[in-house]
Amino acid sequence: MSGEFCVVCGRSDVAVVDGVCAECAATRASLVHVEGRPVVVLCPTCGARKIGQLWQRQGASTLLAPDDLTPLLVIHPEAGVRKIRWTEAGLNPLLRQLEASVDLVFRGARRTETVKFEVKVEHRTCLDCSRRTGHFYTAVIQLRAALDGPREKPPALRERLDRQWETLMGESRKSVKAALSWKEELPEGWDFYLTDTLSARSLARLGKVRLHGTLKESATLWGRKNGQDVYRVTFCLRVPVDGGVVRPTAAAPVERQS
Ligand SMILES: [Zn+2]
Ligand SMILES: [Zn+2]
Repeated sequence: MSGEFCVVCGRSDVAVVDGVCAECAATRASLVHVEGRPVVVLCPTCGARKIGQLWQRQGASTLLAPDDLTPLLVIHPEAGVRKIRWTEAGLNPLLRQLEASVDLVFRGARRTETVKFEVKVEHRTCLDCSRRTGHFYTAVIQLRAALDGPREKPPALRERLDRQWETLMGESRKSVKAALSWKEELPEGWDFYLTDTLSARSLARLGKVRLHGTLKESATLWGRKNGQDVYRVTFCLRVPVDGGVVRPTAAAPVERQS
């Protein structure tokens, strides 16, 4: 073997590529990993998955399956996957704790790599199902940053608002959660559409208290039904960066309170 040796472990009885043996290359390179904090968005009505901007796989199961999970694994380009076994721990249906045990071949040798990660499951009504139900809503909660807070880039802002929203969801009644129809992302935050105004109001008020935010309520005339005006109500909930994390040190600036 012409005196070549691995620069990491010093072995000279094995093949080396770029000065490193297969064993050391495998330990140093990440053969299997998961990027970031994966989220699977699925429609609880029809099982469609939101992949990028598109809804796909209508009619699929609403339970997480290998079809959802396997694409989350980033495999080293030189590794050939033979088999993946999935196991799951934890009981939270919306934050799944998974372990993938991946049998692969790397530079001619079989190895098994194990990777543990969490997958957040997000239920969102897909476009088809929204259309089928006529995109019906009676109230919108606009989740926004506090007006006097630091400047935040839209993705970071949405992510932290999302986390704060999850805190609220964890404390909300089932009937309130059921009133959530869909959400839309905006540069300035999230809009949550609800099918029941009373639920929206209690959720928005809970948000104001728990996340130390400010709340503004306004109504717009939507139409008439049975001779009565029907309004759509908008709740603008502004929450500071540390809302729900630490206690406020001073009273938040007050907008017109509802
Ligand atoms: Zn080595
Ligand atoms: Zn659907």
